[in-house]
Amino acid sequence: MTQSLGLTTAQAESKLKIVGRNVLETKTANPWYKMLWSQFTDLLVIILLVAAIISFFHDKTESIIILSIVALNAAIGFFQEFRTEKTLEALKNMVHPQIRVMRDGKEMMIQTEYLVPGDVVILAEGDKVPADGILIESHSLKLDEAILTGESVPVEKKIKDKVFMGTAVAKGSAMFEVTFTGMTSEFGKIAELTTSTKNAKSPLEIELERIGMFVTKMTGVICLILFALGFLRDVDFSDTTTYFDAIADGLIFSVSVAIAAVPEGLPTTITVALALGASVLARKHAIVKRLSSVETLGAVSTICSDKTGTLTKNEMTVRALYLGNGESVEVTGVGYDPREGDVRASNYELKSTQVLLNLLSDICWYCNEAKLVHKKGHYTILGDPTEGALLTFVEKYAKKLQVRGSSLETLEVFPFDSDRKMMSVIVSRRSTKGEKLLVKGSPDQLLAKCEFYFDGVKVQKFTQAKKNEFIKEYQSMASKALRVLALAYREVDLKKMKNETQAEKELVFAGLLGMIDPPRDEVREAVTKCHAAGIRVIVITGDYGITAKAIAGELGIVKADGPVLVLTGDEVKKMSDKELSKILKDKTQQVIFARSLPDQKMRVVKLLQDHREIVAMTGDGVNDAPALKKANIGVAMGITGTEVSKEAASMILLNDSFASIVTAVEEGRRIYENLKKFVWFIFSCNIGELFVIFTSIVFAFPLALTAILILCIDLGTDILPAIALGVDPAEPGLMEKPPRNPKKRVMDRAFVTNFMIMGCVIGACVVGIFLYALIQEGWKWGSDTSGDFTYPRTMAFTALVMVQLVNAFSAKSFRRSLFSMNLLANKFLLLAIGVSLLLVYCMLYVPFFNDVLKTYPLNLSDWGWVAVASIIPLVVLEGMKWRTRSKEV
Ligand code: ATP
Repeated sequence: MTQSLGLTTAQAESKLKIVGRNVLETKTANPWYKMLWSQFTDLLVIILLVAAIISFFHDKTESIIILSIVALNAAIGFFQEFRTEKTLEALKNMVHPQIRVMRDGKEMMIQTEYLVPGDVVILAEGDKVPADGILIESHSLKLDEAILTGESVPVEKKIKDKVFMGTAVAKGSAMFEVTFTGMTSEFGKIAELTTSTKNAKSPLEIELERIGMFVTKMTGVICLILFALGFLRDVDFSDTTTYFDAIADGLIFSVSVAIAAVPEGLPTTITVALALGASVLARKHAIVKRLSSVETLGAVSTICSDKTGTLTKNEMTVRALYLGNGESVEVTGVGYDPREGDVRASNYELKSTQVLLNLLSDICWYCNEAKLVHKKGHYTILGDPTEGALLTFVEKYAKKLQVRGSSLETLEVFPFDSDRKMMSVIVSRRSTKGEKLLVKGSPDQLLAKCEFYFDGVKVQKFTQAKKNEFIKEYQSMASKALRVLALAYREVDLKKMKNETQAEKELVFAGLLGMIDPPRDEVREAVTKCHAAGIRVIVITGDYGITAKAIAGELGIVKADGPVLVLTGDEVKKMSDKELSKILKDKTQQVIFARSLPDQKMRVVKLLQDHREIVAMTGDGVNDAPALKKANIGVAMGITGTEVSKEAASMILLNDSFASIVTAVEEGRRIYENLKKFVWFIFSCNIGELFVIFTSIVFAFPLALTAILILCIDLGTDILPAIALGVDPAEPGLMEKPPRNPKKRVMDRAFVTNFMIMGCVIGACVVGIFLYALIQEGWKWGSDTSGDFTYPRTMAFTALVMVQLVNAFSAKSFRRSLFSMNLLANKFLLLAIGVSLLLVYCMLYVPFFNDVLKTYPLNLSDWGWVAVASIIPLVVLEGMKWRTRSKEV
């Protein structure tokens, strides 16, 4: 590459001050005042507000109380939404695109937001072009400009061509000088950020919204009737001044009932729970880009994972070489530090060994786009770890020779791509005229293109027997879990080499090189978890079958001693959908896709989805994007993944590890269970309240709850425990159950029956206690139903709140007994219940509230009755749970 200096850090910094950061300013989707306003735009709230204002003229305190309850509720709603928005924003800021640039004459990675005009940027396959600019170097560069032009075929770009922000490198590599950044770029004019987390609706939210609509309509009709009845009861037709009051009272009551019935807060509460889940996931290194993914994660039934970097550490170290003369070479040391480790050939005195080692180290050095960086006594790499490992090897060898090999000039680069599975460069030759092509790549692909081999003395014609010898060695290296590359060369004439197809043929094989990439420590446990949770793990890798099988065996993904079907990309290509589908359908079939081609991931996802599997699929390259989009959960790698793959994915792993996918699935399951818990809690409470109101009307006894008390419960004491259930810790055994059936609705028969029964039991207990208190007060059937009935109503109110608080604990599990749970585990629930109790205390014992809410300070024996009423639903629920458990065995 020609050395282009770019800017100095100081220049870049001062420019940055002038032009600003290279970011697209997106309008905040939802400014706070809009969020606040939206709390008051709900139809029921509007009616309630209107009614409260009307009633102001006849009952000021009632009106003020209603307004305060609405305000309190709006504050909770606003706070929740605000927090969700902040979470989404925080998630967005956790993914920082980075790019290789030249600063101070050196290559380094910087965050794209700090790019300024004049910077020189280095592009590789899969990068997003981070700013507008002009190419100063181009190697087979093809850009996908669909985002700007709509044209889906990648466009070839040559030196001096313009490149635009937002387009993506489909192939090749390049260098360009930045001209425009941020909002001044072409893309800036039309842009909308796509790597940010979006709030798409989850299936559960949609289901609940539909149910909500249905309940709302039903309630609408009922409330009209209630309103009419209330109006007729209160109005005195001879006195027009009573009209207003009757309308206000009727409205307040019917709207209170509507609020009791309609679970309108539910979708928001679910969004909040999903957002909280997303922030928990972020802490565990997984960034979800759509909130609905949190829910989908819980249903994942198959994880298709690539190997390099996800199952392995992606910390490559060259371990062994096998030379064209049949000699083996051992390389010691770990990591990228060339100071540790040595290159040891068994027969180093052999001239041919030295010649071959020199040649191989030239290929490793020049056929390479990575950089080894030495900073503060520590070695790191820029670029592909496979190539980084080669540089370290060359440095170790140079240390042995005590010279840094030859200095050749690179004239052309044909960058690596995962279809060809190789890379080559054309370099100037030291002595004679003409040029040399240096190639490295997957042995399968490369050996097929080799017609000769070099034994260190002479170039020999390849016989099949000789080739087999090298293939055998290749397999033996791979079975030790080594990642193997083949290295080759040939003499060429640069002028005649227009593209890689012309160049990469009739090659001279020079040797094999094997590197270790150790499995990640945490993956083994994650795989065991997957198996316990009925989740299938399929490895789809570009690497060689034997290497992949060795790693998969080490990690327990396949039983190494059992039959494992290793399908190569070429084999899969020849299979019909039906044949492949048959293999994928059989869950007991151990299968590994090796040397797979990027478009095959797409086929695998589709066929798995045809069998109703919910698929999480990893991918890092530019060609993986369609499969990532198609998968239910497309997983991109935060560290090694290309920007294109990150954009296509629905989840980004900050640490690239397979184990994080499993953690995310576990979290997804937990959150889904919690959603069910609070849906159940809210519905059982609502049914309970409706039961109380309707029995009062049907059996013509005084209303057990006034409108204000209903509002106090629904907008006050109910809400906090419901929210707290959303952050409940996972139940034991969560990852020992098979994945849930995604087609199954939450609101199935069993679930609805369960909360209906509970609602009715709760309602019956409250009515019971109300009637008891009413009769205590000397009320008889048929006597007047108007009046304050302060004491019985307070009893009913307190019983209802207490039952619901106990219910919140019960809701923590649909099968486990309350008595076998750790009730202290969810601190938020304890806090929520504490706050609700405090509210009840104030409503009952603060004289001011006694006045305005018409409540009565209960004594100890009253509390005894309330306790009895709260225990009965608990006993019934425990009975139901016991039945569920006994059915399981
Ligand atoms: P996975 O798909 O699990 O991430 P992978 O990294 O091996 O595995 P690819 O990146 O498609 O998949 O690489 C396929 C093969 O190409 C590798 O096994 C290796 O033999 C060869 N290869 C990888 N990187 C390079 C490179 N930079 N230059 C030449 N050949 C390479």
